[in-house]
Amino acid sequence: MQELFVISDCRVVTVEPVGAAGLQVAAQVKHSHACCPSCQQASQSVHSRYHRHPADLPSLGNAVHINLLVRRFYCRSPICPRWTFVEPVPELLAPWARRTRRLAGAQGQVGVTCGGEAGARLLRRLGMPTSADTVLRLVRALSLPECAPPSVLGVDDWALRKGWSYGTILVDLKARRVVDLLPDRTAQTLTDWLIDRDTAELKH
Ligand SMILES: [Zn+2]
Repeated sequence: MQELFVISDCRVVTVEPVGAAGLQVAAQVKHSHACCPSCQQASQSVHSRYHRHPADLPSLGNAVHINLLVRRFYCRSPICPRWTFVEPVPELLAPWARRTRRLAGAQGQVGVTCGGEAGARLLRRLGMPTSADTVLRLVRALSLPECAPPSVLGVDDWALRKGWSYGTILVDLKARRVVDLLPDRTAQTLTDWLIDRDTAELKH
């Protein structure tokens, strides 16, 4: 089961079906201690426990939620201003996040390709259901890589909300990668973007 359900820094305890097409994966952090984010001192003194329920990537066509047992530790350092802290799972999910980082990345990439509304419809079919508004938020949150300026730039419409509002997607046609997403389709916005960069050739 550990090999089938790989969750960063966590140990899978149980996997149970939920509803018609869902799985709940109970997991807990596998380390016996955690380091205080303020003073970096390790602690094994557990203050309390609670559960988080982030959505994760689908498995065998099933939508997946993790039932993650999280511990709050005491910081025992006498010089640390922090009394307690929650054990971090930074590779898995951000504090307060309702989806794992890998799910957010996948949903965002679908949004880049399909736009908000169509992306949300496709994601429902793929076992990663979410709203069109969330897809757009995840697209905006994607960290686009810093790369050399594209020599051939493709410019196309990108549906923020199909039939209602469109942005502009810029693609490096040689490297076959998304370069940036602009919030509208105006020539001025694209001109401003090009002025900031050295792009040799432009294709529509
Ligand atoms: Zn501390």
